[in-house]
Amino acid sequence: MSSTILVVEDEPAIRELIAVNLSFAGHKVLRADDVGQADTLIRAELPDLILLDWMLPGMSGLAFARRLRADNRTRLVPVIMLTAKGAEQDKIDGLEAGADDYITKPFSPKELMARIKAVLRRRAPQLTDDMTEVAGLILDPVSHRLTGNGLALNTGPTEFRLLHFFMTHAERVFSRTQLLDQVWGDHVFVEERTVDVHIRRLRKALEPTGHDRHIETVRGSGYRFTREVTL
Ligand code: CA
Repeated sequence: MSSTILVVEDEPAIRELIAVNLSFAGHKVLRADDVGQADTLIRAELPDLILLDWMLPGMSGLAFARRLRADNRTRLVPVIMLTAKGAEQDKIDGLEAGADDYITKPFSPKELMARIKAVLRRRAPQLTDDMTEVAGLILDPVSHRLTGNGLALNTGPTEFRLLHFFMTHAERVFSRTQLLDQVWGDHVFVEERTVDVHIRRLRKALEPTGHDRHIETVRGSGYRFTREVTL
């Protein structure tokens, strides 16, 4: 399970310790020491998870967490707050601001990794190795196999990732920009119509078992993967 993780922490020693551990675990690490830098990095590439220090120079981590939740683009990105404070009220404030979890300094790298894994499993199941099943369609991220009603289906790597995201986020409408953020990640030079091309290929790949009907075009909005097909 490899993800892109943004670390927003102004203390260099702590930031590097975290970054080294994340890299060692196979994650791609983006580093920022304040909210301004974090904003610049997020504009270029939407991370899969943000580790956010509470006490930052300028805008606080708490205020930034609130802003991330209010912004349509960053709304779904899991956030773990790093805090030196142990007070109950601070933890409540952090969770109310939209943080998914918090971890109190000092923490062990082992604890940090366990928290990250738990939050990703809960909030971003498309990044985990868990098998997914919807209406007879089974996707296995480990073996990279896809079957529909027991029949093997072939997709390209991008269609496979796209389908994985859809299956783990069924019934929700996603715009082309959101899909680029979620499935392509670093997409500064990718055009929106690229999404349509891959949707077409994905539907074609799912046609043999009729599962292509689960992918709905929502006019003016984007695409939605439905659990049940209405005829
Ligand atoms: Ca700090």
